[in-house]
Amino acid sequence: MKREDVMRDALTFRVLRITSIVASVHVGREVIFSNQANFSKQPMLALKFGGTSVGNADAIAQTAHVIAQTKSSDPHVVVVTSAMSGVTDLLVHSARAAAAGQRQPYLDARDALFEKHMTAARALITRPEELAEYEQYIEEQVRFFTRLCSSIHVLGELTPRGLDVVSGLGERMAAPLLAAALRSRGVQAAWVDATEIIVTDDNFGEAAPLLGPTCQRVQSRLRPMIDSGVTPVVTGFIGATEGGIPTTLGRGGSDFSAAILGSCLHADEVQIWTDVNGILTADPRIVPEARTLRQLSYNEAAELAYFGAKVVHPKTMLPAVEKNIPIRILNTFDPQGPSTLITHQPQKNGLVKAISAIRDLTLMNVEGRGMMGVPGIAARTFRAVADVKANVLMISQASSEQSICFVIPRHRSESVQQALEHEFERELARHYIDRIRPVHDVVIIAVVGSGMRGTPGIAGRLFSALGESRVNVIALAQGSSESNISLVVDRQDLETAVRAIHGAFFQK
Ligand code: ADP
Ligand code: ASP
Ligand code: MG
Repeated sequence: MKREDVMRDALTFRVLRITSIVASVHVGREVIFSNQANFSKQPMLALKFGGTSVGNADAIAQTAHVIAQTKSSDPHVVVVTSAMSGVTDLLVHSARAAAAGQRQPYLDARDALFEKHMTAARALITRPEELAEYEQYIEEQVRFFTRLCSSIHVLGELTPRGLDVVSGLGERMAAPLLAAALRSRGVQAAWVDATEIIVTDDNFGEAAPLLGPTCQRVQSRLRPMIDSGVTPVVTGFIGATEGGIPTTLGRGGSDFSAAILGSCLHADEVQIWTDVNGILTADPRIVPEARTLRQLSYNEAAELAYFGAKVVHPKTMLPAVEKNIPIRILNTFDPQGPSTLITHQPQKNGLVKAISAIRDLTLMNVEGRGMMGVPGIAARTFRAVADVKANVLMISQASSEQSICFVIPRHRSESVQQALEHEFERELARHYIDRIRPVHDVVIIAVVGSGMRGTPGIAGRLFSALGESRVNVIALAQGSSESNISLVVDRQDLETAVRAIHGAFFQK
């Protein structure tokens, strides 16, 4: 069979894909209402700065410069900050190691956290009393961190609730530092702990904001500060339940925090300041010649983000789309450089917008000739997966019905495999199902663009490019929206595949 034929056959696979985030964006678009509720005439901006933008003293100074510049023309500003780069990973790693019986990682982290924050503080905070105050605060936070890790070590267990307390500490150390750095250069600013502002449910590790009570607190706490010219510097990523128990919005969630606050404040724009010139046609770490996408629709941005373009968190678009607030992605270190503007406007130009990738995945196969025609196998498979709360990123079932395969995060593969073996104990014993077979170390590569809809030949170009680069496609799915083709490839083919596809669509 020729490659094109293989590809066409592959595309006739019955495909289901879970795109809940994108679906909610669609729903959101139905209820767009204008952004008229801005009480004052002054434009209101929500500015979010990521880990690299507050990664060291120089970066924080540059961030303070961007904020000061913005305030000089648009004085109504709320700032959201991430933890200093590497800090959240360090906190999570220390807590996990403590649960596994190791003390040294958190003892080392304690010293590293203190030094990292104080080194930056000494370079940025000019008034000695402010510096002493910050030092005392950091000492308290570091002591609190050590006590938490010590308890986790003694218990030998780390609950999602406990992990949220530990992993949220980075933002609580960074926000007071950025606020002090702003004051040191004459910008009125005060830090605000988002556990007092963003109210969430208790889905620890991935909490959902409750917009009603959150917006009430934004109006009563943040609005008066902003109106009086003081810039609130709010901790990203974290919130708390109505009862005050700390939660997090999910890794990379500071972008989402900014969109939530922007929505409550009826902001004119949410700006995500990061270390690249907006959303590019591919991750510039993989494709250095990738280009900035000047405009994207909420839908396209959500799709790209959901499929691994970590430059913006996928949920960021949700609060913005409802109030039709534009989101702009800019480079802190190149403020005048190209940026991406995300609005509801569908962009017609270009077939393929960008290529993204999700790492650390497992492809789970449920295989067996005896499955053919046995009703309910798919339903039972996904019920078992749902029971262990694993997130399914892609599903594909061959039309022969001899196998179902789906992709889940690598760290959930053991529990999913056990759940399936339990569910299909009888079918496995009778060989209706031959095996439940995980393939580890795979990635999903997504080719995204609403212009692909109804355009023939896209898949042909895609597969020729992959064939020429000798990349083996393990599975594939095309969303019913036709604005996305997703491929599963081996982890070691990721870079080659992304470069080959990028070359085929952007360098001709
Ligand atoms: P921040 O700390 O500012 O939140 P992140 O590290 O979360 O920044 O996201 C920015 C990174 O996203 C970039 O450095 C880049 O490597 C990566 N990235 C992945 N895909 C894309 C893409 N399509 N366009 C731009 N950046 C991307
Ligand atoms: N600091 C958090 C993280 O690393 C949140 C964020 O950076 O957006 O996941
Ligand atoms: Mg980020």
